[in-house]
Amino acid sequence: MMKEMDYIRPNSIEEAVQILSDPGRRGKLLAGGTDLLVQKRVDPPDYDCFVDISRLSEIQQIRVSDGVFYLGAGVTHAVIAQDPLILKYVSFLAQACLSVGSPQIRNTGTLGGNVANAAACADSLPALVCLDAVAHLRSKRGERQMLVTELVKGPHETALETDELITHFTFLQPPPGVKTHFIKIGRRNAQSISRLSIAAMGRKDKNGNVDFIRICPGAATPRTMRFTEVETYLMGKQACEELYVDAGQRMAARMVEITGVRWSTEYKEVALKAITERVLREVLG
Ligand SMILES: Cc1cc2nc3c(=O)[nH]c(=O)nc-3n(C[C@H](O)[C@H](O)[C@H](O)COP(=O)(O)OP(=O)(O)OC[C@H]3O[C@@H](n4cnc5c(N)ncnc54)[C@H](O)[C@@H]3O)c2cc1C
Repeated sequence: MMKEMDYIRPNSIEEAVQILSDPGRRGKLLAGGTDLLVQKRVDPPDYDCFVDISRLSEIQQIRVSDGVFYLGAGVTHAVIAQDPLILKYVSFLAQACLSVGSPQIRNTGTLGGNVANAAACADSLPALVCLDAVAHLRSKRGERQMLVTELVKGPHETALETDELITHFTFLQPPPGVKTHFIKIGRRNAQSISRLSIAAMGRKDKNGNVDFIRICPGAATPRTMRFTEVETYLMGKQACEELYVDAGQRMAARMVEITGVRWSTEYKEVALKAITERVLREVLG
């Protein structure tokens, strides 16, 4: 049986953080509810009031200004997947959001909820981490900013305080000519949770040498992070099949270095090699 809950729908960010900081109640942000309402049935909630931010227009904007992307935390996966600016400059984020769940989940599930829920398999994380995206947090105590890769500390663990709300994410528009790509491996094609994923950004110079590269696997390590050792290895090298194969091996080796050998390693090593090669072909080929 679900326990009864209070429900409040604030009209502004200001009002939302005011409610979250109220010592008289234990408020919990509710955006699309696609994670929260499922969890509520499984785990006894440690809150007694939903603070519904799903209709806060303040956190539902996407814009680019002076080369900086501003992406509201309340934007749904469906909106991101179709947004012209996202598709033009950072299409891997649209690919990632399009791979989330089903149309129903994408229509209600939000980017902020995906990040705050911090599942290891959260599909938006690899692209956001590749972009060095910054999360902007608001509470009654003020504002602070944090890289997404630092905000999400591990599976279902974040640096968010209970009275904090993610208002938006910012990241720099990629330099001209940089291509982006996202690949997800799931158990089936639709409504599939990531077994493993990868996001990459890349460009070669006029001589065919790698002159921009960022690469981040998803559901591979407890914290979603760029594999900067592999990026450094790739920089300046001639983009070719041998390089992609070599990079795949290095990605897999780095993953095992971080996680140790687990029951899933036998599968993930091979799979990560394969998707690294594929993603590099897409962004550098
Ligand atoms: C059937 C199904 C399939 C799914 N498939 C996928 C999939 O393929 N890939 C994937 O990545 N996910 C998947 N999910 C998980 C979920 O849909 C996503 O994580 C979604 O983005 C969560 O967003 P939400 O708005 O629904 O979050 P909610 O459920 O509303 O909230 C999730 C958590 O985030 C907190 N929160 C929400 N917004 C904010 C904010 N602005 N600031 C601070 N905290 C906040 C909430 O308090 C809660 O703790 C699936 C879920 C279901 C039920």
